[in-house]
Amino acid sequence: MIIDGKKFAKALRAKIKSQILKIKKRKKLIPGLTVILVGDHPASAIYVKNKQLSAKEVGMNSSVLRFKSSISQQKLITVVKKLNKNPRVHGILIQLPLPKHINSNSVIETINPLKDVDGFHATNVGNLSIGKDSFVPCTPLGCYILLKSIKKNLSGLNALIIGRSNLNGKPMTQLLLKEDCTVTIAHSKTKNLKHLCRQAAIVIAAVGRAKLVKGDWVKRGAIVIDVGINRINFKGSSKIVGDVDFESVRKKAYAITPVPGGVGPMTIACLLNNTLKAYKNIHS
Ligand code: NAP
Repeated sequence: MIIDGKKFAKALRAKIKSQILKIKKRKKLIPGLTVILVGDHPASAIYVKNKQLSAKEVGMNSSVLRFKSSISQQKLITVVKKLNKNPRVHGILIQLPLPKHINSNSVIETINPLKDVDGFHATNVGNLSIGKDSFVPCTPLGCYILLKSIKKNLSGLNALIIGRSNLNGKPMTQLLLKEDCTVTIAHSKTKNLKHLCRQAAIVIAAVGRAKLVKGDWVKRGAIVIDVGINRINFKGSSKIVGDVDFESVRKKAYAITPVPGGVGPMTIACLLNNTLKAYKNIHS
């Protein structure tokens, strides 16, 4: 089964849109997302544009604050503090990476945790790890929704997460532990990755290595979620592939996400969902 992330993302956006329509009928203030973009990183500019378009499409207020890469950390922190106080802004997202002279953690820690729709603030990270309600980072949340759409009860399953980043691997671990999976986390120093992969009923690949996971690594009937986005040269032009060798793995897996069209579309839909959640939390 190929898991159609576009379809799930479309359904989630439609649900968000209908809830915002209802809010618009009753309230003056509607959910608002502000993205902070520093510098002129081309990929970041594209991500931000897509986030803004998607937010508008569901009827949210959406704005982008753009700054030169020379902006000081203190100035950026002042901007975040102002957004924390702005009642029209429910979600604040700082597009990463920030320039090297800025400590990303210091800026992220300035965001009011109630508006931290990326789920990177230590309060949200901590709440997720102790099982309290929190904002969950958008990509692992998208993976989780896709996974649950394939199999509702994950209890007792062996899950292998390849990658231990704060963005993907670690929050994914928490989500799967909450589902009573037996979770193994692999990283660049892990030995016998192929062997570990063969034991797993669920494989989440969030590595950033093109086609790392091969067909003979995967147990028959496994569910494989591919987070990777890797640009490779293919027949003279560039192509996006995941961390999973799709063609060989699809022959073994029960279900697999393609790249593109799998996890990617879910990330933005989950950002909108988190912004709506922030609005509801703030106004409840
Ligand atoms: P990251 O911060 O670079 O983390 C990569 C992780 O993979 C690290 O934990 C690293 O181990 C581990 N690793 C590297 N080489 C490995 C190997 N050969 N074997 C096993 N583990 C290895 O990356 P990230 O931000 O989590 O992103 C991962 C991928 O997801 C990237 O391709 C990124 O573009 C993509 N991504 C996609 C979305 C989406 O919306 N679909 C969103 C975000 C990111 P160490 O900790 O030991 O270094």
